Amino acid sequence: MNSFTFYNPVKLHFGENALENLPKEIAQCGNKVLVVYGGGSIKKNGVYDAVMKQLQEADKTIFELSGVEPNPRVETARLGIEMCKKEGIDIVLAVGGGSVIDCSKLIVAGAKYDGDAWDLVTKKAFAKEALPLGTVLTLAATGSEMNAGSVITNAATEEKISWGSPATFPKFSILNPLYTVSVPKNHTVYGMVDMMSHVLEQYFHNATNTPITDEMCEGVLRTVIATAPKLIEDLDNVALRETILLAGTIGLNGFLSIGSRGDWASHNIEHAISAVYDIPHAGGLAILQPHWMRHSVSVNPERFAGLATRVFGVDATGKSVEEVANEGIDRLSEFWTSLGAPSRLHDYNIDDTKFDQIIKHAMLNGPFGNFKKLHEKDVREILQNSL
Ligand code: NAP
Ligand code: FE
Repeated sequence: MNSFTFYNPVKLHFGENALENLPKEIAQCGNKVLVVYGGGSIKKNGVYDAVMKQLQEADKTIFELSGVEPNPRVETARLGIEMCKKEGIDIVLAVGGGSVIDCSKLIVAGAKYDGDAWDLVTKKAFAKEALPLGTVLTLAATGSEMNAGSVITNAATEEKISWGSPATFPKFSILNPLYTVSVPKNHTVYGMVDMMSHVLEQYFHNATNTPITDEMCEGVLRTVIATAPKLIEDLDNVALRETILLAGTIGLNGFLSIGSRGDWASHNIEHAISAVYDIPHAGGLAILQPHWMRHSVSVNPERFAGLATRVFGVDATGKSVEEVANEGIDRLSEFWTSLGAPSRLHDYNIDDTKFDQIIKHAMLNGPFGNFKKLHEKDVREILQNSL
């Protein structure tokens, strides 16, 4: 294990009555609340009304910013920042999925920064402070509700960049599985692919002696694999929704990378693709990550073989380590396809026309990936194999 310092200050309220905690959480922050949400799903499923009722009963002054897009844009965050500064907002409440939460993280940090918000994303400036942020999560996927990270797109420059600082952890997050029941099948699948992908990014590291986090990663993966096929046939099943909701949060709240440094190359390449083509984040991951695995398996085939046998139930009898490792990768890819996720870039009508641009974006900070360092030719090969 590597030496580590672990810090995660997010208070989680989880369960069917979790929203009851909202007034007492908000009371500690002030009177003026900016509620941030997306394209309207929260108005259809009753979450908007439930949140507003709590805020009105607590006598809060409510401001709203709607229309946060999937793959949230810096332009939208700028609107929220302007509102915070003009109205003297005390707390931002993000109600939605990862996109709404990520956009709100930039709003709370931008509200305390004098320059342009994009500086914080590009790391030209560091977010030293932020307004308080609370979240009401409506989609199990990103783990953004319990981490400090945020991914923001700049459509003008065709960039999509991850950033964050200790100031952008939510103060609290409210997770009610009932709020996720209305998530349609495609986004339910994307969410499950994304959380599995996060676990896999963290599973592939070069630290030694990490049995606790290895077992935790494998346990989360096995649970999602056992739950996902049932859930897509029974979208109203609250118990299954509850399991997946917690899996998404545990998948990226830092616990799984205690003592090690995950790879994250697949996410980096995916961000470069979705900056250019605006495809769903997890759709890109479902295509790319198995190809990243095939490209990287030789670094540590034993680790891939362990995943194959312990998570995908591959029978290793009479097979070489490499055969078992590759069978596990095939099983992962087949599993995602069986849920309805895409497996080729062609599924999104993407060809190699813009590969140079995607590679340039992915290589912005030089070679990347902590398990296997990827250079330009590696990225090109992974993209080519993903066509
Ligand atoms: P999302 O983009 O927040 O939401 C996807 C779609 O689901 C939206 O159209 C949204 O509609 C809808 N939706 C959300 N909740 C719903 C509900 N309860 N019922 C019906 N529809 C609902 O999806 P996401 O996967 O959570 O977030 C993706 C973004 O997060 C990407 O930009 C990705 O790069 C980023 N990401 C962040 C992290 C992190 O740690 N910060 C990690 C991985 C990925 P409405 O807009 O109408 O609400
Ligand atoms: Fe992700």
